[in-house]
Amino acid sequence: TGVPAIKTLLTIKQMGDESNPNINSHMSDEMVEVLVDHFEVSVEIRAAVSLEDEVLSEFEIEDAEADLLPRPPIVTFLGHVDHGKTSLLDALIGIDVVSGEAGGITQHIRAYQIEKDGHKIAFVDTPGHEAFTEMRARGANVTDIAVLVVAADDGVMPQTAEAINHAKAAEVPIVVALNKCDLPGITPDKAMQDLAANELLPSEWGGETEVVKTSAITKEGLDDLLETILVTAELHEYKANPDRPAYGTCLESEQQSDRGVVCKVLVQGGTLKIGDVVVCGTSFGRVKSMNDTLKPSIRLEEVGPSTPVNLTGFNTPPGAGEKLYVVDDIGKAREIAESRGHAEHEQNVAGSVMVSLEEMARRLEMGRLAPSDAEIVTLNLILRADTKGSIEAIKKELGKIDHPEVRIKIVQALVGGVTVADVRLAQASEAVICAFNVVPDENARSLAEEVGAQVRRYDVIYKITDDLKATLEGRLKPEE
Ligand code: GDP
Repeated sequence: TGVPAIKTLLTIKQMGDESNPNINSHMSDEMVEVLVDHFEVSVEIRAAVSLEDEVLSEFEIEDAEADLLPRPPIVTFLGHVDHGKTSLLDALIGIDVVSGEAGGITQHIRAYQIEKDGHKIAFVDTPGHEAFTEMRARGANVTDIAVLVVAADDGVMPQTAEAINHAKAAEVPIVVALNKCDLPGITPDKAMQDLAANELLPSEWGGETEVVKTSAITKEGLDDLLETILVTAELHEYKANPDRPAYGTCLESEQQSDRGVVCKVLVQGGTLKIGDVVVCGTSFGRVKSMNDTLKPSIRLEEVGPSTPVNLTGFNTPPGAGEKLYVVDDIGKAREIAESRGHAEHEQNVAGSVMVSLEEMARRLEMGRLAPSDAEIVTLNLILRADTKGSIEAIKKELGKIDHPEVRIKIVQALVGGVTVADVRLAQASEAVICAFNVVPDENARSLAEEVGAQVRRYDVIYKITDDLKATLEGRLKPEE
């Protein structure tokens, strides 16, 4: 209608509305009419609830506490390249990659469920941590526990540090596998010190991080690692309702010439059955077959929470990270998938949502005018600077900013130029990147532009704090 939302909200308030509406509030038809008169504009009243909303709210049924049963934990391996992620997972599940999953699907992401003393564990192994972050960036959360693999001879390396930040941003517990302990002359002390320096103080040093000494070669420590995972899972009491229409996440998918679309799905709640009608992103279909990911010859009729399967039946390959839901009829599934296809197209044309300080300032100001509840908002930052000294100085300055409603959180602070990994992390955690005396590399710059992440460059520290204070006060205005 051309009337800014903020003006609309103010007007509603001036009219004496006591309900403290915010930008997401529903407006009654009468209120719309009053406003239309007031602003002398015309509005086209669309169906209040789109099909998608209707179906989504149906999916997002809150399970009653009594229906929730314990489910296996979903574990992801993260770590620096060559520290032994692949070898450890292979050793744990008793296969080697070459012979494993022959009839499955080309593996980028591996996902298996194993059993240890009657307790199941699901493992999801993503190449590098890009996949982990990318999934999170799409709002898909497929990890309960992160196993951080650190080679005892190498200690914490740059990708280890990144992995730690990713896991922390995802707020998942971290279990450390201190790997390659079979190597002669290994003293784990240096690696332990590295961990402590990265805020993962080992429990044997009085901290809270479980560090298990492992070897993928001799298999030392593997039982210990599984037990530690199970204890961690027990502490967190992961639960799901197995007795409802299934939902899950597509991990990856591909079109195969003989089998059609094969999709690796992690079922997260409910029970998925052969013949179920499913919709996933802009794809839909009826589940035709489900195969075990570890032993592809095993065909499954139905699978419950925390189970990965290779599934056929989709019309087109769904995107990695898309949510899968069961709906009750194929016509509805088609309609949802197609309407999403159109919406996606429109969104691509319109460009993606920017995460920027200006946008945060706007949101904060919005919330202040129409406070929905007294929630504390977090403003996520990723710092890149020329030296460790600069980082310390910036952190110190930021530490002085104290605000009742907003918490400034530094998701990651590293020395050096802005990288693609930083932009991915910014995207996943809705963070703004502050680059102090450094610049983004070319790939990072173009990715940031593509995904709408903001990289702000500074060369004086107080400019950073000034901008942040202005953001918090909602007076940071868009850059020209
Ligand atoms: P990833 O890149 O983290 O997946 O590492 P890989 O599993 O591919 O392992 C990298 C190299 O380290 C390979 O040559 C492995 O054989 C070796 N490796 C992995 N785990 C161990 C271990 O526990 N002990 C020793 N000695 N070598 C290992």
